[in-house]
Amino acid sequence: MPSFENTPDFAKKLDREDELASYRDKFHIPKDSCGNDLIYFCGNSLGLQPKTTKAYINQELDDWAEFGVEGHFHAKNPWLKYHEFLTEKMAKVVGAKPIETVVMNTLTANLHFMMVSFYQPTKTRYKILIESDAFPSDKYAVESQIKHHGFDPKEGLVFWKPRKGEELLRYEDLEAILKAQGDEIALIMVGAVNYYTGQYFNLKKIAELGHNYGCMVGFDCAHGAGNVALNLHDSGADFAVWCTYKYLNSGPGSLSGCFVHEKHAYNKDLNRFAGWWSHNKKTRFNMRQEFDVLPGAEGWQVSNPPILSMAAIKASLDIFDEVGMEKLTEKSNKLTGYLEYLINQLQHKRIKIITPSNPEERGCQLSIQVKNADKSLHEKLTEAGVVTDWREPDVIRCAPVPLYNSFTDVYKMVERLKEILNN
Ligand SMILES: *Cc1c(COP(=O)(O)O)cnc(C)c1O
Repeated sequence: MPSFENTPDFAKKLDREDELASYRDKFHIPKDSCGNDLIYFCGNSLGLQPKTTKAYINQELDDWAEFGVEGHFHAKNPWLKYHEFLTEKMAKVVGAKPIETVVMNTLTANLHFMMVSFYQPTKTRYKILIESDAFPSDKYAVESQIKHHGFDPKEGLVFWKPRKGEELLRYEDLEAILKAQGDEIALIMVGAVNYYTGQYFNLKKIAELGHNYGCMVGFDCAHGAGNVALNLHDSGADFAVWCTYKYLNSGPGSLSGCFVHEKHAYNKDLNRFAGWWSHNKKTRFNMRQEFDVLPGAEGWQVSNPPILSMAAIKASLDIFDEVGMEKLTEKSNKLTGYLEYLINQLQHKRIKIITPSNPEERGCQLSIQVKNADKSLHEKLTEAGVVTDWREPDVIRCAPVPLYNSFTDVYKMVERLKEILNN
């Protein structure tokens, strides 16, 4: 644990020593009505816009204007294979091989596509295990898949729950569930970083446990991609999905990333929903061909993709590629560690950080529980120029993002929180 000091000068010193400090200037930072930068700790919800994004999108608009349909071949970045320009850099961000990685569709849609292939229930093995406080969209998706196969979600959905009085999940409890009913569980689908508590799970451990009991294992990495070094390939997970508009700064509603482990890359027998974009690239335009599925994650695409959204992803991935996840997580540990230190310095009885204190078990987000608070605390923070988000019943989620947040942001945020709590 680095030694920190609770002074504005110390925060400034950390900023001066920060190798990534200049990246802040590569982003549009939202401002208050007086033109001052807001303290933006909501990159876990919607990442900020890189200043280069507009030029990347304009390139495609210009090429569309100039070439019309021929842009598929003659655009500077030919649209026909546009998704391929993203694959390698995205694979690096999530620790996967290119053959395991594709950018396509949106997040919940991809979760469904993955379950078509990796949730193949039988009469005796039909359950899906998720964390009890899973993101609502994931819970709805999983429930609807169980129903779709003719089972009752009341029996088919198994929750991995925190113990009474606790917030975080324990692996021994997961193991106990698997011991009791592992042979009835077809799929384990867990958020790699829980959106509410910020707990970053040991993906390899969960995948190994699940596979020992014959379950398929998938992860929703919406809060992990671009935040922690996921090492998806080494985790051994069967599949993973994530969005690109949170830590990956690619704009509202932008496309999703999808990982299918190499061990499934050449399995043509896996059930899947297909489309012309999952078909062999060489014969795709011969039309009237028998379906011939592409190997790897690309073989799960269905449609030709929205190039304008992909241009925004390309802009963002170029920044990630330049920095690398290693330097990013190194700064992230320090930045979040500083936030944790300052909040603990408040020694405020009503405040408790529910996110794990071990940096290996979290990303940049800290979830701060404020006892007996209501949403007005969050509103006062917003008025004070601090953008965080509020999750019922009593949690403020703060995500200092290493690409564009500073140590001074962190210092100022805690000062403003202190003022509000003391009034
Ligand atoms: C953000 C988030 C979603 C949102 O899903 P969309 O399909 O992109 O609307 C789903 N699941 C998790 C875990 C998330 O964090």
